[in-house]
Amino acid sequence: MVIYGIKSSHLRTEPLLGVACPSCSAPKAMQLSVFSRYAHAYWIPFFPFAKAAVAHCTHCQLTLDGKAMPEAAREQARDLKQQTRLPLWTWSGVGLVAAGLAWAAVAGTQNARANKAYLAAPRAGDIYTIHSTGDSTQYSLLKVVSAKGNTVEVVANEYEIDNSHPIDELNAPTKYGSKSFSLTQFELQIMQNKGQLTDVDRLAE
Ligand SMILES: [Zn+2]
Repeated sequence: MVIYGIKSSHLRTEPLLGVACPSCSAPKAMQLSVFSRYAHAYWIPFFPFAKAAVAHCTHCQLTLDGKAMPEAAREQARDLKQQTRLPLWTWSGVGLVAAGLAWAAVAGTQNARANKAYLAAPRAGDIYTIHSTGDSTQYSLLKVVSAKGNTVEVVANEYEIDNSHPIDELNAPTKYGSKSFSLTQFELQIMQNKGQLTDVDRLAE
């Protein structure tokens, strides 16, 4: 369930000039307040979408908004709304989403760079995520058992799952076949270009 809604936050209050209170007639008791209305999700302000003004009498506590305000007050309310900037924090959620996307882009670039480095200098223990071509959504793993010159010796995982990151589920010694076969770096490069080899992991020893 997503919790979302609309909230208001007070931005500023100024005296309402030349307007007597329509209720108690106090001459200099009226104030104008401007509020920002903003959308929130999980109480994180996402974006502002409106400003609202309210006239208030400090003497008798009468509160008027919108068309209930006298014409002179409505004009001042319009001006005050125009002069009041929406605070940046009401965009926090949009900022967070943008920061998250930027982080994901950086992480993606770093992962691609690491994959390239691992493929160029393979080590025993490297794990390649393999994706069958065509419409298949199944993924499996190849594990490097030795690397010599430009050839790696790998064993294939005997399982495949419908998850582009199968390593957590499939990377158990008993799930690999016992027969190894060799692949050249050139072949690995082709597999990567074709999207058959989608990730390289080098687990910390
Ligand atoms: Zn009043």
